[in-house]
Amino acid sequence: MTHLLNAIDEQLKPWLKERGQGGYRAAQVRRWLFARRAADFAAMTDLPQALREELAAEFDLWSAEVAKHTVAEDGTEKLLLSLRDGGQVECVLLRDEIRRTICISTQVGCGMGCVFCASGLDGLQRNLSTGEIIEQMLRLQLLLAPEERLSHIVVMGMGEPLANLDALLPALVEASRDDGLGISARRITISTVGLTKAMRRLSDTNSRYRLAVSLHAPNDELRRQIVPVSDKIPLVDVLAEADHYFEVSGRRLTFEYVLLGGLNDSPDHATELANLLGRRTALVNVIPYNPVAGLPYRTPTAAAQRSFRSVLEQRGLAVRFRHRKGDAIDAACGQLRRRMASVPS
Ligand code: SF4
Repeated sequence: MTHLLNAIDEQLKPWLKERGQGGYRAAQVRRWLFARRAADFAAMTDLPQALREELAAEFDLWSAEVAKHTVAEDGTEKLLLSLRDGGQVECVLLRDEIRRTICISTQVGCGMGCVFCASGLDGLQRNLSTGEIIEQMLRLQLLLAPEERLSHIVVMGMGEPLANLDALLPALVEASRDDGLGISARRITISTVGLTKAMRRLSDTNSRYRLAVSLHAPNDELRRQIVPVSDKIPLVDVLAEADHYFEVSGRRLTFEYVLLGGLNDSPDHATELANLLGRRTALVNVIPYNPVAGLPYRTPTAAAQRSFRSVLEQRGLAVRFRHRKGDAIDAACGQLRRRMASVPS
């Protein structure tokens, strides 16, 4: 059976035509998938019963199974999905006032090797398909109450998104289409550790998405320790591509900085970071580290966090310290997958 979400229109339209069904049937199925939150073909009650059965016999709506669903007290929900080949990925729904943000994965594992990250510990297994990426969005949408609506997408889960642009870009088109999830491109953020060629490809597609570039260090020497892939990509090149993306897209850049206790969290590091970023139109998103079992890194002290922030703010940078939502359910990328892998079934 084929996974419908891999190429919805391309698969559905000719299939319906062969059966003498009008073009409006494809639009009906879309509406059920994205707007009316159908969990299966049987729920698409304005389609003839026989057609619903034929659709179910021809297409898989879902290609994964929910291996675990966890809910934190702050409303954060996390799904661990088991894929057909046994791989597992995570995706998260974050509730923050009226915002409903989902964080999705693009790869099984990750090849970037950031030393603090649970996702990269076992390396890259494979890229996700477009359908597997859209499935995360739809499964998370199913967790919402009827009066809630998805408002933002961050592509910051497991994997390096720009290493899987071929599958990601069509999935984001579905997310932003009016007859898809209808989420404005400016509310969709793609993160990267700074793969410069792929950043150029993204700007060449006239991308309207927001870009978040993970720095994690204010100089190449320290960055090579924390983000090994940066060995081949110096900060000067990463920032040049980020600037180009800003020029082309007009979207304010975000620079991500995971604050690791005793490693990159001193006032000197903050000063160096401020010097590096200069007067760029950018938001610095600082994420105090969330410890991962088996890794030696620790959360920065409250005092270190305060002084890091104040140095950046005194230099006029826009700074946000990201709330650590969902700690109790291992919401940081890769943590739930690892915990489940270490639990005998
Ligand atoms: S932080 Fe992101 S890019 Fe780095 S290893 Fe983890 S998933 Fe990959």
